[in-house]
Amino acid sequence: MSITETASSTTSTPGAPVIGHWIDGALRASASGRTAPVYNPATGVVQAEVALADQAEIDAAISSALAGFKVWSGYSIAKRQAVMFSFRELLNARKGELAAIITAEHGKVLSDAAGEIARGQEVVELATGFPHLIKGAFSENASTGIDVYSIKQPLGVVGIISPFNFPAMVPMWFFPIAIAAGNAVVLKPSEKDPSAALWLAELWKEAGLPDGVFTVLQGDKQAVDGLLTSPDVQSISFVGSTPIAQYIYETASKHGKRVQALGGAKNHMLVLPDADLDLAADMAINAGYGAAGERCMAISVVLAVEPVAEELIGKITERIAKLKIGNGAGVDAGDGTLSEPDMGPLITDVHRDKVSSYVDIAEADGATVVVDGRGFAVDGHEAGFFFGPTLLDRVPTTSRAYTDEIFGPVLSIVRVASYDEGLDLINSGRFGNGTAIFTNDGGAARRFQNEVEVGMIGINVPIPVPVAYHSFGGWKQSLFGDAKAYGVHGFDFFTREKAVTSRWLDPATHGGINLGFPQN
Ligand code: NAD
Repeated sequence: MSITETASSTTSTPGAPVIGHWIDGALRASASGRTAPVYNPATGVVQAEVALADQAEIDAAISSALAGFKVWSGYSIAKRQAVMFSFRELLNARKGELAAIITAEHGKVLSDAAGEIARGQEVVELATGFPHLIKGAFSENASTGIDVYSIKQPLGVVGIISPFNFPAMVPMWFFPIAIAAGNAVVLKPSEKDPSAALWLAELWKEAGLPDGVFTVLQGDKQAVDGLLTSPDVQSISFVGSTPIAQYIYETASKHGKRVQALGGAKNHMLVLPDADLDLAADMAINAGYGAAGERCMAISVVLAVEPVAEELIGKITERIAKLKIGNGAGVDAGDGTLSEPDMGPLITDVHRDKVSSYVDIAEADGATVVVDGRGFAVDGHEAGFFFGPTLLDRVPTTSRAYTDEIFGPVLSIVRVASYDEGLDLINSGRFGNGTAIFTNDGGAARRFQNEVEVGMIGINVPIPVPVAYHSFGGWKQSLFGDAKAYGVHGFDFFTREKAVTSRWLDPATHGGINLGFPQN
């Protein structure tokens, strides 16, 4: 399978291939004349340009999806399920191709790209069992001779707007369930890594999905606004930064849509004095520096309950020294195999510089820079967007380095005197996505799960992303709306219920004329 691109000399990178849309079951070159660069973050080279849709392309995408919906929603459950299983099989057989695409545009290491696909596959597998989850309910003889039943129907055309950091997994949090339930999807991927969505679109076609049921609309704010305001789009599922999530929630709601909008995060890990500090140090490294910290469930703050801070910092520092940073695609080990680094680059040079500026801010505000990743370079990849793993200690909680989401490989230690002080810090934050407690005290862990104001909690688990049959979503400014991603929430979001009250008259149950309100 190849994601065909058209070469163009009209973009800001002359001769660069242009990544287009997927409309009506086929690649569609853009005519908008607007594009954005797509980098290989490991080399810093612009490898393609991506089309940015104009209004005509937005309209074409939505009207194709409307036509696709008419066809797909008329398919029997058995036929829909056959397509879902076929997609699942194809994805499983060919996921290596998708991982390579993710790594080339995002920069994360190949095994991590494979990991995000695996988490998306879980949702695909959940969605193959959709008949059970959308089958409604039936109450016989609710009143004499009267049956009441509920049926769940698809919404129609649904919009998904996704962030750069999980170009396959985040769309897969939504589209398997949306499609299984009978909807048609218009996906607007991040313009920073747009190719995974096209690969998935080709796979759906191969699986037998009718044209128009899965559409990829490449673009920026214009494409997003087109989806938010179109009367033909029934719902919006968004994942991205908090200010944009809030904008999406408000704008789409104003236009009468169902919205789920997942925002940013600042996830804390509370380490109690009785914790296994080797485990805590390993987990802080994995959750702080995995995917170069570009995960919404990354741990960015370690709250060390004294007296553990010194020892924990020592263990984390030892481990940082052993991390390998490089091209996520791996380098030839010289024996025909690829050796993979632990951590790849950041998504762009602009983002790397922003991450770096937060380390400057922390230092200026009085934090100690224990390990400094600023100015980090990888031999042979000097133009890549690398930033070294960074460890800050005694970060003041008034510093923007503490209050803002940095979204890079920067781990901040905040020393606290007690469990209560740590809990208060977590609960006073504006985000509430994920958190973790490390302890061997079951009572403390149980108290934490009860008292902490966060949507997803790990107990000796640092990145508690729920499995597909539970639901994913934070609290406070990490989720706008009341619908989480996937699980039962996902099926509720992508269906609407009808309740039918039915009576088939026979002489024995004929009630005669009665103008009063119906009672039992
Ligand atoms: P982003 O908010 O910049 O972009 C997300 C999407 O919104 C993209 O498709 C982008 O094209 C679009 N967009 C950007 N600016 C817009 C605007 N002004 N108007 C309309 N649309 C706009 O986010 P990002 O940088 O791609 O992703 C990183 C962010 O996503 C982080 O904050 C991270 O925490 C968050 N995230 C959250 C979760 C979660 O589950 N809560 C998961 C993954 C990522």
